[in-house]
Amino acid sequence: MNFDYDLLVIGAGSGGVRAARIAAGHGARVGIAEEYRVGGTCVIRGCVPKKLLVYGSHYAEDMHDAAAYGWTIETPSFHWPRLRDNVQLEVSRLNAIYMQTLANAKVDLLSHRAEFIDAHSLRIGERTFTARYILIATGARPMFPDCPGAELGISSNEVFHLETLPKRMLIAGGGYIATEFAGIFNGLGVEVTQLYRGEILLKGWDMELRQKLHDAYVARGVHIHTSAVFERIEKLADGYRAYLSDGTLLDTDIILHAIGRRPNTDGLGLDKAGVATDAHGAVQVTAASQTSAPHIYAVGDVTNRVQLTPVAIKEGHAFADTVFGNMPWVADHTTVASAVFSQPAMASVGLSEDDARAAGFALKIFRSDFRPMKQALPGGAERSFCKLVVDADTDRILGAHMLGPEAPEIIQPLAIALKMGATKADFDRTVAVHPTAAEEFVLMR
Ligand code: NDP
Repeated sequence: MNFDYDLLVIGAGSGGVRAARIAAGHGARVGIAEEYRVGGTCVIRGCVPKKLLVYGSHYAEDMHDAAAYGWTIETPSFHWPRLRDNVQLEVSRLNAIYMQTLANAKVDLLSHRAEFIDAHSLRIGERTFTARYILIATGARPMFPDCPGAELGISSNEVFHLETLPKRMLIAGGGYIATEFAGIFNGLGVEVTQLYRGEILLKGWDMELRQKLHDAYVARGVHIHTSAVFERIEKLADGYRAYLSDGTLLDTDIILHAIGRRPNTDGLGLDKAGVATDAHGAVQVTAASQTSAPHIYAVGDVTNRVQLTPVAIKEGHAFADTVFGNMPWVADHTTVASAVFSQPAMASVGLSEDDARAAGFALKIFRSDFRPMKQALPGGAERSFCKLVVDADTDRILGAHMLGPEAPEIIQPLAIALKMGATKADFDRTVAVHPTAAEEFVLMR
């Protein structure tokens, strides 16, 4: 059979664009369908604009601390529309680079929504295209709670475009997105309440870091309301009223839902192509990202394996090399480092202490709790924390964890050491770079 394309990719986010570009480089005729903007969640309304807002938010504390370093800054003021618009300019610049990358790779951009007609055909806009292989890379979207008035809230999609900076904000969720935006808007001077159904933010992370981050947020003025969810939300003449499951009423100007993300598979017509999904709507795949239809693959958040951009990129790259480059490999989902761009930031690679114990390891735990040097002059009370989880039998480092300024930058190179199987003795014989925060990792005894 003659196909229009060797590969059609649905979704021009991180995973889809990488797969399209690499497959085209291997000589495949490739088309990519995108209903919104090329770049996907990470570039358009996730990692990139979020990180820029984190930078913007940090100036408040930097200017506060500047006085102790001899600077006089007369009454600083903050103009949200300027930050918002500058962030969007950068997003547009990156969006253009992504489009150029596709054009350079001779990938056809089909700027419409795609839906399966049958196992080899997609309706894309008004037209129908066929392909030998199809890659589903449609990502995920924010979930809303199931309560009356939930739609009165916004999600992380809208938060980047707020017309004005609210005085009060209620952020639901205790995960990455809720915690990052709580830090951002708290830094920008908004009165933030974070509503979490559990007790300590960021389930899944090392408990000591969670507790310290939670305490740091409280100390920085974030009101953390735990062990409750929304019962209903009402519009007031001025703002919103949230009725919580514990009987509390909370009035606020904006409600941001950040309670997880759901794979984008609704209405894709996967049943027409014989592609199986799980109970969460995620496309089920093998380690090689192959779906239940052998010529259809899926990568990234839509598969709900590890919802992180660099993982989607690896999966997309592995798929393209394997299917079109005659170079089979699979993305490795073990020892994936990640960071929460909270304030202070938190980052980890490997096992938390609890997970390591649950896996049956006998452990040695090393900790360093210290005041970041930059705080010596301003005299801030916030401390940084580093932790190593070590296998007592083999001396191997099972987990490295950090809370504090630059934690994501420090954990990234440590991830290489863990991938290589580094032992505590390897860390010990490494000479420190002094004075840094990172040196704590080679000085723990
Ligand atoms: P997360 O899974 O990180 O957190 C979801 C939060 O919502 C959890 O605290 C969870 O509680 C809570 N929750 C889930 N369902 C409900 C419900 N029905 N009612 C009330 N609360 C609920 O999701 P996010 O939306 O924050 O982010 C999605 C994913 O995107 C992340 O998991 C991460 O993989 C990725 N991401 C990564 C970032 C980074 O690398 N820096 C930044 C942003 C996102 P509980 O803890 O009890 O389960």
